[in-house]
Amino acid sequence: MRLFSVMKCHCEESAGRRGNPRIPIWATIVHRGLPRRCATPRNDISNRKRFWSHVLIYLFGLSVSVSATLAAPPVELSWPTPSTAFAEGRHSDTFLQHAGSGDPASGGFGGVRSNGSQYHEGLDIRPVESRRRGEATDPVFAAMDGVVRHINPISGKSSYGRYIVIEHPNVIPAIYTLYAHLARIDDSIREGSSVSHGQTIGIMGRSATYTIPRSRAHLHFEMGLRMTDNFQSWYDRKEFGSANDHGVYNGMNLIGFDPLDFYEQYREGEVVNIEDYLADLPIVATVQIATMRRPDFLERYPSLVKLHAPMLIKGWEIGFTWNGLPVTWKALDAEAVAGMRPDEVKVIQANESLDRADRSRRLVVTRRGKLVPADDLDRVLELIFGLN
Ligand SMILES: [Zn+2]
Repeated sequence: MRLFSVMKCHCEESAGRRGNPRIPIWATIVHRGLPRRCATPRNDISNRKRFWSHVLIYLFGLSVSVSATLAAPPVELSWPTPSTAFAEGRHSDTFLQHAGSGDPASGGFGGVRSNGSQYHEGLDIRPVESRRRGEATDPVFAAMDGVVRHINPISGKSSYGRYIVIEHPNVIPAIYTLYAHLARIDDSIREGSSVSHGQTIGIMGRSATYTIPRSRAHLHFEMGLRMTDNFQSWYDRKEFGSANDHGVYNGMNLIGFDPLDFYEQYREGEVVNIEDYLADLPIVATVQIATMRRPDFLERYPSLVKLHAPMLIKGWEIGFTWNGLPVTWKALDAEAVAGMRPDEVKVIQANESLDRADRSRRLVVTRRGKLVPADDLDRVLELIFGLN
């Protein structure tokens, strides 16, 4: 029995897809057992306002969980390519593109390459449409409604090749999606363009700074969070020796979660939005940092902050997923950070067996008998807090 239903969104024209005959009828994935809501309610409070509303409520001493009163609405989701395999519930082997080994699992998320040591921060989705002169011709679709934030039209300027980043301001938290190795960017989009889920934004390809053979053309698709608005100063400090052509949408400033895991949970009705999905991810390490710095990350993603009591913020307690995604944030008062130096980071909890389960990322190491952040976690903290 099929565990989900897939149908044409009955309000697709109002969603801005009129005149786009290439949108297939299965483009909208509908989760099972939940009402379909084409007219997604919009929370018209911007993220920035949400952040300051949290802080103000704090100051006025309301000991309530603010995030509970601003629950995220369901998202509308499209598969980013014309492949129907996922929507039909078929195994990921039927739609993932291998990375050269022939094993489709190497097109998945995480430590799927080089015997598990090489991290892949997205999904590689193979083409299904008939090829023209051996090249892929599949259109690539926006996964959710959003705004185009970055277009790299020049293949040689990024290992992503030609790529597009869309931010989703009406989704909570306002994640990005990224579409890489494109053959072509659709003429209809520019940076700043609004797009609807299922709208064509480009053509699948194999553009990159290295050679992807025709036989392995694919869409590299990411979902995740952007770490800092001050990426350039971090980039300059690292002295990479080449220019950053992509501003804050450089891949090093983006941190993803597994799109396939999210899509599967959505299809099965286990989650209806990103907020619920992120809230259920296992926390592999928790750190405390003593700082008066106010990361712009929290202005972008205020729903990750759980506020329960009024206080003057003197630091943060942050829970990280296995790959370093900082998904839970709790403000700390002076008492909680007593004895810590400014910007000092303490690991207060770590699940070391989970941390070691995927060799491509490591959050903590033991030094002199004490758990401390490993390089992968250090980098996230440097970026988010502007640490040296
Ligand atoms: Zn990839």
